[in-house]
Amino acid sequence: MKCILKINVACLLLLFYSCNYIPAESNKETEKRSIIFAQGDKNTTQNFNGEVWVKSLIDADSLNETAVGNVTFAPGARSKWHSHPAGQILMVTDGVGYYQEKGQSKVILRKGSVIKCPPNTPHWHGASPDTAFVQLAITSRTNGPTVWLQTVTEKEYRD
Ligand code: MN
Repeated sequence: MKCILKINVACLLLLFYSCNYIPAESNKETEKRSIIFAQGDKNTTQNFNGEVWVKSLIDADSLNETAVGNVTFAPGARSKWHSHPAGQILMVTDGVGYYQEKGQSKVILRKGSVIKCPPNTPHWHGASPDTAFVQLAITSRTNGPTVWLQTVTEKEYRD
């Protein structure tokens, strides 16, 4: 009787581990799938620190004044402080990053996080120190272009 019980337990354990076994190839497929939108070109403006890639997906025009861009931050890379006259929506598609409004605590963002940044509110966004970060930036141009401010200091980034 004890022997049968042991065999049953062994079978259950085998079943458990076989169900939870994920082959290495599946992990690779997951990594590939996480790239949803094109990475675009490396940023050459002075509006960011560190390596950043920007792909414009939708340009604002007279009928729809909302622009959509895919922004990829290498680990540690971030925007300067800036504000948007009509606010901004951020939708995180991959990685781990930060968002901070002036005078507020830094918010940690992960894949699936969504941020609604109010109009004319100084803030910055970027990657965490060890993980790249990918976000869609949805920005209305109704009240004018982004206003770029000072660089995020190391202390502000770390705090
Ligand atoms: Mn912004």
